[in-house]
Amino acid sequence: MNQQKQMIFNFNNSYAKLHKVFYHTVLPDNMPQPETLVFNQNLATELELKINNPQQLIDLLNQIPNNKTINPIATAYAGHQFAYFTMLGDGRALLLGEHLTTDHKRFDIQLKGSGRTPYSRGGDGKATLKSMLKEYLFSEALHGLGIPSSRSLAVIATGQTVYRETARQGAVLIRSMEGQIRVGTFEFARYYASTQQLEQLLNYAVKRHYPEIQNGNKAIQLLQSVMSSQIEMLIGWMRTGFVHGVMNTDNTSITGESFDYGPCAFMGIYHPDTFFSSIDQKGRYAFANQPKILKWNLARFAEALLPLIHKNQDHAVKMATETINQFDDCFDQKFQEMMLAKIGIQQPIDGDVELAQDFLRLLKIHRKDFTHSFNYLRLPDFYKNKDFILGAEFVQWLQKWKHRINFNEGKGHAFSIMERYNPFYIPRNYFVEEALNLAVKGDTEKFNSMLQILKMPYWYDSEMDNSLFDPPGFDEHFKTTCGT
Ligand code: AMP
Ligand code: MG
Repeated sequence: MNQQKQMIFNFNNSYAKLHKVFYHTVLPDNMPQPETLVFNQNLATELELKINNPQQLIDLLNQIPNNKTINPIATAYAGHQFAYFTMLGDGRALLLGEHLTTDHKRFDIQLKGSGRTPYSRGGDGKATLKSMLKEYLFSEALHGLGIPSSRSLAVIATGQTVYRETARQGAVLIRSMEGQIRVGTFEFARYYASTQQLEQLLNYAVKRHYPEIQNGNKAIQLLQSVMSSQIEMLIGWMRTGFVHGVMNTDNTSITGESFDYGPCAFMGIYHPDTFFSSIDQKGRYAFANQPKILKWNLARFAEALLPLIHKNQDHAVKMATETINQFDDCFDQKFQEMMLAKIGIQQPIDGDVELAQDFLRLLKIHRKDFTHSFNYLRLPDFYKNKDFILGAEFVQWLQKWKHRINFNEGKGHAFSIMERYNPFYIPRNYFVEEALNLAVKGDTEKFNSMLQILKMPYWYDSEMDNSLFDPPGFDEHFKTTCGT
């Protein structure tokens, strides 16, 4: 392999300098007939990768066993899955390396679906093409919506069959993240490693992701910082109707990036109890439960950090509890600001919060589409020919709202806020399914055009009009599986 090919990434690994308890060195499986189905040239450029043809990625992966500059690792983590504690780890993912950009930004480059690891348990370590295309689509969609997310660089069909309920095509996803340390990584350190090792992980996470934390109680400050980042991310989900579907602690990142897109989907018709995951039988991870679940996950994070918060356990618990108790105020304030902005209000006065709540109440009762309803306020004319009306019960609300907007913010100003907070396009479930089902058959045209729209989801493009509206009734019965 020539030098050129090795130089796609500027790897500079730091995680592997942690104690060996935190990872295993593993080689990815050989891909019998690799074919790149999607490649993200924009991301490659952003990350300053030296690549001009996706074939170079395939060559690189195939050469890993002979390439001493690449030392992939599978990382250890545990986690609460649907509230039950389990030892997990990268069962089908490998950290290929940490890529450094010229301005010293560090990105984990990860393979998903690359084969078994010591953490695979009963699994095959593989991924289906459809699920990796879905992860690609959703990660790029969230990024386009302005929500912190892992990014996807490429999906490579491996040419291998993967067996789920039926035989499927296998694939490897290459993704990048600012960091892949999870709440579950700390849980692993707390329950399966020593306190020294837990402290090593804390120091590493602080230095890498929150270097502003220098003095004082590092563990408490990390807890606070992760809480802020995670709330910021969650506000993005709540703003756009995103339901992650598996908010387990192993899927909760320290950096506040959304990742691991399994049975996720965007809500069409507004209802707080909406969930799409077929494995989430009780709706634990339903839309409106997400804040409560995040707080619960952060409490697990706090528990894992206890020995580093204070030597005296009672003190530690008290300090951790005080920090976690700040969650509600912090989230509520941000949520309120965001909901008000969605109806064009940035400088609230008395009655505004109720006005926003009332709107949501009406959407719920009348089963209206979350995304369209907010856009309707600003663009009623656009919806005239689209068979989308808010109906008589909204008239009163609309009058009140119009009066409020004209009174204070001014219509132009309000609309410019609404434009930034309310996307036109979200990946609509019907069209996602259609695009994925065609893509696995080799027809990636719809998939690519969807990706294209989702780069600028706040801009209306009449050519893309048809993917704005799911066929009526589709969402109500839509369920999605991990389809791993
Ligand atoms: P996820 O639900 O994708 O976040 O995965 C939860 C855990 O199951 C992680 O430890 C994964 O690495 C592991 N896992 C998921 N699918 C597989 C698979 N096909 N083979 C091995 N491990 C898997
Ligand atoms: Mg996961």
